Amino acid sequence: MAKGRWNEKGTFDWMKTLNVENVYFKILREHPISRIRISQETGLNKMTVTNSVKTLLEQDIVCEIEQEESSVGRPPILLDLNPALGVLIGIEINILGCKILVTDLSGKILHQIIEETLGWNPKNLVEKVAEMVRTYQSDYRHWKRGVIGVGIALPGNYNHNTGVVEYISTMHDWDGFAIQAAFQDAIPDVPVFFQNAGRAGAKGEIDFGAAALEADMAYVHGAMGLTLSMYSSQGIHVGDKGFTGRFGHIIIDVNGRLCLCGNKGCLEMYASVGSLARALYPGEDIGLKQVENLLRRKEQGEERLEKELEELVTYLAVGIANIVNCFNPERVCIGNYLGMLLKGKEEPLNTAVNRLTLEHLRSDNRIFISALDQWGAAFGCISSVRNHLLGLTESWEADG
Ligand SMILES: [Zn+2]
Repeated sequence: MAKGRWNEKGTFDWMKTLNVENVYFKILREHPISRIRISQETGLNKMTVTNSVKTLLEQDIVCEIEQEESSVGRPPILLDLNPALGVLIGIEINILGCKILVTDLSGKILHQIIEETLGWNPKNLVEKVAEMVRTYQSDYRHWKRGVIGVGIALPGNYNHNTGVVEYISTMHDWDGFAIQAAFQDAIPDVPVFFQNAGRAGAKGEIDFGAAALEADMAYVHGAMGLTLSMYSSQGIHVGDKGFTGRFGHIIIDVNGRLCLCGNKGCLEMYASVGSLARALYPGEDIGLKQVENLLRRKEQGEERLEKELEELVTYLAVGIANIVNCFNPERVCIGNYLGMLLKGKEEPLNTAVNRLTLEHLRSDNRIFISALDQWGAAFGCISSVRNHLLGLTESWEADG
């Protein structure tokens, strides 16, 4: 906090902003909720809650809902998120298809599309997304703010200091692309937030999935490769330029299989959707078609796939044991397509991880599968837009 703001008025404004933010986040997470409960659970006094709610009501961010009278008297008025404030767009870019998720402020899904080739060329993507934003702005013009914002999750190194995508191992057209500037030119009136897909996945799981807000969690985003994000109640570890979590490229065999990154023996050559698909569809170019086919084979409980998954678990356990040894997370979430393929394998994976970690680090309930299937990172993009709604940046969130 800048020192200049510590005058009497500045302190007051700052406190007021913090209080509104506090109440906003409480309503985001627990709507519908009464003013009394907000006061009880945040520790803010009733007058502060009333004033903060007033600010949110004036901005049409929240609305009041009346409950029917019961025999025990008049129930309190509940506060909910305004369902017609505007639409939020979350997009996960990946070689396996671009996932586009459109929701209202509460995260209720309005549209959900996977466009297989949209993410392959950066200029084309910016053009198409800008077109899409204009269409939604027109379709939802009767809503208060039209399109509130767009969140974008990227599979490689997005430098949040420069707004440039520096490197994507599977799509080299993206290397060096100034995505932030391109979007600023294309849709200057709509805020766009960028981040790494692993980080977005973790956020999505916390806000919309199965992770607890208080937990220390490692999130493994399993698309073609593997990305890791470390979350604690203090926030998500970002790193110097935002380049965290290249989990797929930790080396587990110095003389092992050659990886796209140029090294040998990277984990994702043994324990990713990409490695699984290459084993089961030899000679084919791996894309969305093969991954969807894998999911069908999973549903049918096919023996060959199950065998390959057992081997994958053995290798993935090595990677996760390394995370546990370094960071000691309470829970480890497996998200995206890899999570969908590993449903039902939580226990053997947990046991294999325990075998590889020191006794006092073991846990019976560490591994869980994302509740959002392949949509975790797109939901995390929705979180970013929501978190910036009040014009505030969370201290840990450098993706604005
Ligand atoms: Zn590698």
